[in-house]
Amino acid sequence: MALDDRQDRYPFPEIEAKWQKIWADRKQFKVREEPGRPKYYCLEMFPYPSGRIHMGHVRVYAIGDLLARYKWMRGFNVLHPMGWDAFGLPAENAAIENGVHPAVWTYENIDNMRTQLRRMGISYDWDREVATCDPAYYKWEQLIFIRMLERGLAYRRRSRVNWCPSCQTVLANEQVEAGRCWRCDSEVMIREIDGWFFKITDYAQELLDWCDRLPGWPERVLTMQRNWIGRSEGAEFALPVAGRPDLKITIFTTRPDTSFGMTYAVLAPEHPLVDRLAIDAAERSRIDAFRAEVARETEIERLATDRPKRGLRLTARAINPFTEREIPLFLADYVLMGYGTGAIMAVPGEDQRDWDFARAHDLPIVPTVKRPEGWTDEQAYTGDGVKINSGFLDGLDIEEAKRKAIDWLVGRGLGQAKINFRLRDWGISRQRYWGAPIPVLYCEKDGMVPEREENLPVVLPRDVQISGKGGSPLAEVASFVNATCPKCGGRARRDTDTMDTFVESSWYFLRYCSPTYDRGMFESGAAAYWMPVDQYIGGIEHAVLHLLYARFYTKVLRDLGMLKVDEPFQALLSQGMVIKDGAKMSKSKGNVVDPDDLIRRYGADTARLFSLFAAPPEKDLDWNDRGVEGASRFLNRIWRFVHASLPEIAGAARTPAGPLSDAGRAFRRTIHETIRKVTHDIEHDFHFNTAISAVMELVNALHDFERASLDTMPRAERAALLREAVETALLLLGPVSPHITEELWAALGHRQSLFKQAWPRPDEAALARDEVEIVVQVDGRVRGRLTAGVDAREAEIRERALSDGKVRPWLDGRQVAKVVVVPGRLVNIVTRG
Ligand SMILES: [Zn+2]
Ligand SMILES: [Zn+2]
Repeated sequence: MALDDRQDRYPFPEIEAKWQKIWADRKQFKVREEPGRPKYYCLEMFPYPSGRIHMGHVRVYAIGDLLARYKWMRGFNVLHPMGWDAFGLPAENAAIENGVHPAVWTYENIDNMRTQLRRMGISYDWDREVATCDPAYYKWEQLIFIRMLERGLAYRRRSRVNWCPSCQTVLANEQVEAGRCWRCDSEVMIREIDGWFFKITDYAQELLDWCDRLPGWPERVLTMQRNWIGRSEGAEFALPVAGRPDLKITIFTTRPDTSFGMTYAVLAPEHPLVDRLAIDAAERSRIDAFRAEVARETEIERLATDRPKRGLRLTARAINPFTEREIPLFLADYVLMGYGTGAIMAVPGEDQRDWDFARAHDLPIVPTVKRPEGWTDEQAYTGDGVKINSGFLDGLDIEEAKRKAIDWLVGRGLGQAKINFRLRDWGISRQRYWGAPIPVLYCEKDGMVPEREENLPVVLPRDVQISGKGGSPLAEVASFVNATCPKCGGRARRDTDTMDTFVESSWYFLRYCSPTYDRGMFESGAAAYWMPVDQYIGGIEHAVLHLLYARFYTKVLRDLGMLKVDEPFQALLSQGMVIKDGAKMSKSKGNVVDPDDLIRRYGADTARLFSLFAAPPEKDLDWNDRGVEGASRFLNRIWRFVHASLPEIAGAARTPAGPLSDAGRAFRRTIHETIRKVTHDIEHDFHFNTAISAVMELVNALHDFERASLDTMPRAERAALLREAVETALLLLGPVSPHITEELWAALGHRQSLFKQAWPRPDEAALARDEVEIVVQVDGRVRGRLTAGVDAREAEIRERALSDGKVRPWLDGRQVAKVVVVPGRLVNIVTRG
C-alpha cells in the first residue's frame, strides 16, 4: 500500500494483526533467567475463565503491559506471564444448567479468552501459560498439603458451614442470598461438618509484622490486612460461677482496666460450657431454641453493629473477681465462639455493643472512666480519662490501669496478659467437584493416611454426575472413593472434598518461574532469580483473602526450605473499577461495554490508550464514549502527522547537529521536558494519565512547531528536530499503544523493534534554561540577588524574593505593603512598619 493512500485512515485491523503475529513468531517476549541482568517480574492477577474478558480486564492488563514494555525498554529482563485460575464454582453451575462438563466449559472459555487477550497485544510470554485445573499443576499443591500435614500446618476439625436443607448440600457464602439458597430459595441453615484447615494463625504475628515492611503496597490494603489479622493485647482471666466451684468461664478482654465496670458476662451460644450451666430441662430447651434461632444468622449479621442483639439470660450467675459481686450471665448472638475465648466480660460504660445490650435488657451501667465536661450519658464512652469506680485502679490513666489490673490477676493466679488475633485458621475443604482433590484416605485400621508421594497427583475423575444436590459429587464416584490404603494395603476411602480455589492462586506466581518443571513445584534456581514479583496488579476486592493466603503460603514454602523470599509481592497496585453511568458495569444494569466491540470499532491501541488515559489507575474509571473517540482521534492524528512528515524526516539526522536557533532550542527543551515528565509519572506514582497527557502536549507542540518553522528555520535543523520529536513521541507512547507505534517506528526506517530501543533519557543540556540575575530591593535599597529563568513567572519571582535568606531580615517586624516585579530585572518590596 502506498503511503499516500493511508493518509486519511489509520488501518488498525491490519496493523494490529500484523504486529501480534510478528511478536508471536519472533517470540519477542519469551524470557529465561539471565544471571547478572536485572530482572523485573510484572504480574497481573490471573483471571477466572468465565468465558469473555470484560473492561476491568482490559484496564488491568493495559496497566501491566505498559509497565512490562516500559521495563523492557529500561533494559530489564521482564517476566510477564499469563494463566488461568481455572477451578471454581461457575464451571459447576454451568454443568448443572447446561449439562456441559466443567472441564469442557473451562477449556473452551480459556481458548476464547486467550484469543481475546492476544487481540489486545499484551507482551506475555505465552510459553509460560498455566491452568490450575491441570493435574500437572495441582499435583504440587497436593504434595505441599502432605508436607503441611506432616508439620501440623494442615489439620482436620469440625466447623460451621451454610447448609441448604432442601438441596441437601453445603453452600458457599456467595450461594447464600439474603439468608436463602440461590437455587431453591429455601432458608439456609448452619451445620457443623468435618473439614481441613491450614494453620495460618501460626503466622499471624509474622504476617502482621511484614505489613510494616512492604513500602510498595498501598496503605489502605495494608490497613485491610492488619485489620483482618486483628492483633489485640489484653488479658485473659477466669470468672467463677456462683455456687459451682467446678465451673469457670474464661474471658478475653482488651480493656482489663474496665473490669470494675463488668455488670454482666456473655457466652457465645455455641460455647461448650453452656450445656453444663443449664439448671434443668426447661432451661435446656430454652437454650436449644435460642441456639436454633442464632444458627440461622450468618457471622456477618451477628457482628453487624446496626441491628438489635439477641440475648438469653441464664439462671446461673458469675462472679466478677474485682468487685466480688454476682453478675448475670447471658447467651448472645454478638459473641462468637471463634473469637477470643467465646466469652466476654460486658462493660457497658465503655463498650457500645455492651451498652446497647445493657439498655435492651435493663442491666446496670457503671462508668469506670471519668467523662469529659459536658458529656451526656447517651452512649458508651471509649475515650481517654482517669479511672473512677474502680477500687485500687482509681485515679490511674487507662494504660497504667491495664497494667495494674493484669498484675493483680497474675498475683492472684486468676489470669495473665494475652495477645489475641482476629485471624482464624483457613478452612480449605469444599464439598465441590471442580477443584483439586485432597490427597488423603481413611482406612478402618489406620485412620487418616496421606496418599503416597509417588501416587500423586490424585487426579480428579472426569466421569461424574453434578446435580448441585447432596454432598460432595466425588462421593458418588465409586472408582475414586474406593482405594487402597497406602499404609496397610487394605481397603480405604478417599477424602471426597476438594481444596478451596484460593489454594491454587496462592502459588501460581511461583509456577510461572518454571511452568513445565516436573520434579517439583518449581525449579529453585528459577524461583531464586525471578522472585519476588516486582509489581503485582489487581483489584481491591482481593486486598484481604487472596493476598493474605499467598503471603502465608510463600512463608510456608520458605519454612519448608523451598524458597528464599519472605514475601511474594514487592509492590502492589490496586486498580479501581470500570464504571459507566455511575455504576459498576454489570449485565443486570445493562451498562456493559464489550471489549471485543470496542476493539473491532477502534482497535486495541485505542482501547488501551483510553483505559490508561481516562483515570489514574487507583481511581475508578468512568466510561464515556467521547473519551474513546478522543483517544482514537489522537492516534489518527499521530498517524497522519508521521506519514505527512516522512519525506522530510526519513533521511534526517537522529539528533540535531550544531548550535540551534532560539526557536529550535525552545522546542528541543519541550521534547526533553516531556521525556522527564513521562518517566517521572510512570516511575513514581503510576500516573499514566498525566504521562499520556504530556505526550499529547508534545504532539500539539510538534504540530505548532511544524507550521511555525516552515519558512523560518534552516531545513536540516527543522528536519532533525521533527525527527527527534516524532521518535520521542513514539517511544514514550509505545508501552501504551504498542501496535501503531511499532508500525510507525518501522515506517521511519528502523529495522529493530521499538521495544528493543532504550527508553529515552532527558538531555540535561537541552533542559537548561537561560538565566538572568534579578536584583531585590527593600524600600529602594538593594538587599539581595536571585538567579531565575528568563521566562520565570512573576508569582514565582515574587515568592522567592520574599523568602530569600538575605532579604528576610529586612522585612522582620515590618509589613509588606507592595511588591513590584520588573520581569528579568528587579523586585522592589515596599514596607511600612
Ligand atoms: Zn437449595
Ligand atoms: Zn490401612
